[in-house]
Amino acid sequence: MGMRIGYGFDSHAFKPGVPLVIGGLKIEHDEGLAGHSDGDLLLHAITDALLGAVSAGDIGTFFPPSDMRWKNADSTIFLETALEEIATAGYRIVNMDCVLILMRPKIVPIAGEMRARVAELLNVSQRDVSIKAKTPEGLPQEGTAVAHVTVLLESIPEPEEETHKRITAEADATEVDVVVRTLMGDDPHNMRRLGRKPTFDTDDLT
Ligand code: MG
Repeated sequence: MGMRIGYGFDSHAFKPGVPLVIGGLKIEHDEGLAGHSDGDLLLHAITDALLGAVSAGDIGTFFPPSDMRWKNADSTIFLETALEEIATAGYRIVNMDCVLILMRPKIVPIAGEMRARVAELLNVSQRDVSIKAKTPEGLPQEGTAVAHVTVLLESIPEPEEETHKRITAEADATEVDVVVRTLMGDDPHNMRRLGRKPTFDTDDLT
């Protein structure tokens, strides 16, 4: 089975007077993230990781900031396009690991909710999405939020391939059953008819 990895990075500066949205989740805070779209850096990094995994370019390829259509756009639109790209390429998500680096707000209290929202948007199980948050210790990024994302994809098996495998497995099981019955007759413990020596052979005692 083919596998691919992808990596995405994004950063946005905090800005007063705009709503804060991270991972598709609206968060109560006194500042939001500046950006051409809604500034959702986590969805942007996830979008780039997915596109990168299938070598389909990046978020700017599909949604150039110069295009006014994407002004204040909901970043779930970008994510949906990336999901379509990986599906078209024949891949699906195995798991994803995300790191957010920001001083405020604290992510830990809302990490579960954010993880659930991201999993919902990706249409995967929550156990396949990890979101970790760090404070920027020693980094001069007080007014900035940063996101790093890695994703693993696997190729989607062809439907015919799966059907063929199942039929072959069933045929193999039937053939084995016939051979076993032919060799062993009614006694499933008749090891001699199978040509095997029992582990304890009474002949050895004579
Ligand atoms: Mg961005």
